[in-house]
Amino acid sequence: MKFVETSGVTPFTRALFQGEPYTVVNPYKGCQYGCSHCSAQIPTKTAYPGYKWGEIVEVRKDILDSVEKNASRWAGKKVYLSSLGDPYQPAEKKYKITRGLLERLSDIDCHVRLITHSDLVLRDLDVLKNMNNVHVGISLTTTNDFHVKLIEGKLPSSDERVETLYALGDSGITTFLNIDPFLPEITPLFRLIDLFNDDVSFFRIASPNWKANIVKKNLFELLKIYEPELFVRYQTIYLKNGKYYDEIRKKMNKNESSRSVEIDITI
Ligand code: SF4
Repeated sequence: MKFVETSGVTPFTRALFQGEPYTVVNPYKGCQYGCSHCSAQIPTKTAYPGYKWGEIVEVRKDILDSVEKNASRWAGKKVYLSSLGDPYQPAEKKYKITRGLLERLSDIDCHVRLITHSDLVLRDLDVLKNMNNVHVGISLTTTNDFHVKLIEGKLPSSDERVETLYALGDSGITTFLNIDPFLPEITPLFRLIDLFNDDVSFFRIASPNWKANIVKKNLFELLKIYEPELFVRYQTIYLKNGKYYDEIRKKMNKNESSRSVEIDITI
């Protein structure tokens, strides 16, 4: 595992959630979890072509100074952590950049959206509790251990993630369930929504980035070897160019969940 400590990079980009612009802050570029379905592998591999995805992480220590210097620009803004790697991947235990960012952002009147898979977020409950406007999302794709191991092998188990979600909620943090990626026939979408309806403030559902060839290739190869019937089904879903997801959208509209659902599906 290689860590590259950098300075002078431009750590802020833009993203839209439900049409709302967010400033994206990336304390790390690259992710030790190395999920096959992650589109962050594309910019990481471009920057570090000699390394496999999941084996190199750029550590952006100077991002803390940058946030501090530009504090006035952040007031009233929406901020998202993060798009290029889990902000609570194991490296955060040592570097504490995500913690430092939250400490600085807690002094600024801004909205923070944070998404992670890791219980390391519980280390920073003291900071999160001090923030006026923070939403913490825990990502879950499936509760089937076989599929977790197959697709997300290095991530905490689904049980561990659920425990983290509950612990955050019990501490008074506003939480959401981030069903990302939503994988046809693998993600028990409506069961998850029923199960967590009383525990989270909202749901977010996102498809894998099918437009990224590497994401499609990785997922299809895994299914072809380990789930051949599903592989055929996925080819059909993909070739039908979004009809499966149209049906899901229709079902979502009829769903009786009392929580709002953000849908971010593209094919
Ligand atoms: S944990 Fe998130 S950022 Fe990291 S590899 Fe997996 S999907 Fe990508």
